[in-house]
Amino acid sequence: IKNLNKYYEVKGKPLKVLENISLSIRPGEFISIVGSSGCGKSTLLRLLIGLESGYAGQILLDGKPINGTSLDRGIVFQEHRLFPWLTAEQNISLGLLNAPGTQAAKNKSVQEHINLVGLKGFEKAYPYQLSGGMSQRVAIARALVNRPEVLLLDEPFGALDALTRSHLQQELQRIWQAEGITAILVTHDVEEAVFLGDRIVVMQPRPGRIKRIVDVPLGRTRDRGSYDFAAIKD
Ligand code: ATP
Ligand code: MG
Repeated sequence: IKNLNKYYEVKGKPLKVLENISLSIRPGEFISIVGSSGCGKSTLLRLLIGLESGYAGQILLDGKPINGTSLDRGIVFQEHRLFPWLTAEQNISLGLLNAPGTQAAKNKSVQEHINLVGLKGFEKAYPYQLSGGMSQRVAIARALVNRPEVLLLDEPFGALDALTRSHLQQELQRIWQAEGITAILVTHDVEEAVFLGDRIVVMQPRPGRIKRIVDVPLGRTRDRGSYDFAAIKD
């Protein structure tokens, strides 16, 4: 991401929401993004997935500019956004809608991802039959089923209770390691950011800028007690 600037138009006037965002993310890295409400975290993710046009600067994937139709990124939102009339496996299959390959290969991939997120036995369940945490597992599987290069997560566990959140944080870490995927997580939870992230991008609002980038020393991530949160929180 090079010198990214983004404006929205509000009541006919330009509102600058992102200013000079530059960030280089390594393959396989886990990036956490924190920052107060309105600092442009979701806007940044939407830009990365190609859901926003109208920006200045560059967003490159493997050195090539991204475009709106690229399907090599999977995204998980705070609300799971599953289709209520589709089963868990049908919702996950949606991640393969435009993918090449035979139906048999797609079914196999769906099954693998159901196993990956720990939902074996719930293939035929509808969203109303799933808990919030299970629904987010379906959303994660849907994001990953097409084997994207990058997984984007926008406060994926924000609506969950503390215990479920803690379980899913560990699950996400396991999945990230198993898949060898690059992950970008937006969260309000600084402990979550430290637990999962290799680096933490701290943003500040009006307009949204990167305040600092904090390295989380390897091996520290599980040892939350000794982490100096002040480096992120002040
Ligand atoms: P939160 O932590 O509350 O989710 P955020 O960091 O994700 O906040 P964004 O949703 O990216 O923040 O919004 C950044 C700014 O852009 C805010 O001031 C918001 O009001 C504004 N904004 C977001 N989307 C639009 C839009 N479609 N049109 C106009 N302004 C928008
Ligand atoms: Mg947001």
